[in-house]
Amino acid sequence: MSEACKTAFGEGPKAQIIAGGTDILPALKYRLKTPGILIDISSVPDLDTITYSEQEGLTVGALVTLRRLAAHKDVREKYPLLTQAALSVGSAQLQAMGTIGGNLCQDACCIYYNLPSVSRQGLDPCFKLGGGRCHAVQGSKICHATYSGDMAPALLALRACVTIADGTGENTIPLNELYSGRGEAPHVLEPGRILKGIQVPPPFHNVGIYVKMRIRKSIDYPLLGVAVNLLPNGKDGALKDILVGLTGVEKSPLLITPPDEIKDTYELEKQTEIMAQAARSKAHPIANTSGYSPRYRREMVSVYVRQGVLQALEIAAGRG
Ligand SMILES: Cc1cc2nc3c(=O)[nH]c(=O)nc-3n(C[C@H](O)[C@H](O)[C@H](O)COP(=O)(O)OP(=O)(O)OC[C@H]3O[C@@H](n4cnc5c(N)ncnc54)[C@H](O)[C@@H]3O)c2cc1C
Ligand code: SF4
Repeated sequence: MSEACKTAFGEGPKAQIIAGGTDILPALKYRLKTPGILIDISSVPDLDTITYSEQEGLTVGALVTLRRLAAHKDVREKYPLLTQAALSVGSAQLQAMGTIGGNLCQDACCIYYNLPSVSRQGLDPCFKLGGGRCHAVQGSKICHATYSGDMAPALLALRACVTIADGTGENTIPLNELYSGRGEAPHVLEPGRILKGIQVPPPFHNVGIYVKMRIRKSIDYPLLGVAVNLLPNGKDGALKDILVGLTGVEKSPLLITPPDEIKDTYELEKQTEIMAQAARSKAHPIANTSGYSPRYRREMVSVYVRQGVLQALEIAAGRG
């Protein structure tokens, strides 16, 4: 690991990490990225393990594939939200090759950017390609490429942290600090920093669900993904705690924490509506994905949060 970090640091922005390759290889083929060297981390030892304990929770190495994560007994039993999110990614082949580290570090998408070079010929280079304009939002001074990973919202709603190695040591940060909010460079990892693993706290009595809006039930990225992780209060069906993760509607995945006003009510319907509106207000989808208008996708945020809460409560009731 330290060799990979040092090589990446030495080569600077010229170098790109490759793990499963399912995100970066299309970008290389389209000549969206033209790195001088690729650093293949797929054989770095000890990055492909999954461990679980009741005290520590779940630890997942960055090289664990989505398919393996989804099928792991402890993940299926204790963190079904992660299994659902992993099995919603692209297709079975992409889940078999794609790693959890690559999923969290994947690039943001835009229909004016993710094009073969021949199809881009008629377009001036936009901000994400080092140019000076945005084709998706006319007159904009920034890139609005959409973060569309499925695992980040689920892991955000589970309060996950990530460990970053830099060749001299490691640093563990909450997952939301991995994201920059910048469409042209969605994560904050500098050259020489490699995502080593993910830690998810013990699930206690939480129950979670991942709901994904897309055109086709196979292969498509989320046009909206909503992860709901909640703790029912066990008495009258209301909520003791809730976190919502969103993807596909902003430049970064979003974590929606309960607004203060939720503390003033013990009614499930009101609590759900407060979360649904809090999530909707943070989502700003734009017209740079295929299918469904930004307005429709924004409206669907609250619909999917409500649906997620209901489904999670049904699971909790079945459990109890
Ligand atoms: C047709 C198609 C459909 C897809 N659909 C979806 C979808 O529905 N949902 C979804 O979430 N994704 C989707 N993807 C994207 C991709 O397949 C997955 O995100 C996959 O999990 C990426 O993992 P990987 O190991 O292949 O990443 P790679 O391609 O190897 O890497 C992706 C990026 O992360 C960086 N990286 C990889 N590992 C690390 C690490 N450990 N530390 C630091 N940087 C790292 C690489 O430098 C690269 O920039 C799709 C891709 C395609 C081609
Ligand atoms: S949002 Fe604008 S700047 Fe960003 S990739 Fe799309 S067209 Fe380019």
